[in-house]
Amino acid sequence: MSQFKGSCTCGAIRYELQTEPRLSFLCQCRQCQRITGTGHSAEFVASEKDTDISGELKFYELTADSGNTVTSGFCPTCGNPVLKKSSGYPGMLFFHAATLDNPTVFQPQTVFWGVSHQPWDYVNPDLELKQRT
Ligand SMILES: [Zn+2]
Ligand SMILES: [Zn+2]
Repeated sequence: MSQFKGSCTCGAIRYELQTEPRLSFLCQCRQCQRITGTGHSAEFVASEKDTDISGELKFYELTADSGNTVTSGFCPTCGNPVLKKSSGYPGMLFFHAATLDNPTVFQPQTVFWGVSHQPWDYVNPDLELKQRT
């Protein structure tokens, strides 16, 4: 059983990975700031085929700074953003880390889009910095 399982706030959406995440990161792009309502997102990545999801997400499409079409998946009952998809990474799911039952298992390696970071938002300076996702 994976440690990487979680849910939205109301519990209508549940997910569980069958593997370890391929990548764990923070992202300070403007779209992640809007979706999370704060300075950066915290996300881990798994392929759709390695993930079990129960419940029906609702999706909203937007264009990211990278030019990719990003689809934000959220719970229609409680509104909690749970995951994203990106046209640049077909078949992959980007989960919001704090939806984990135990968010402590999340260990980000990298920060993306530091170029649009907010002066009030601080991240671990030891993380590898990359400008694009
Ligand atoms: Zn919910
Ligand atoms: Zn982002």
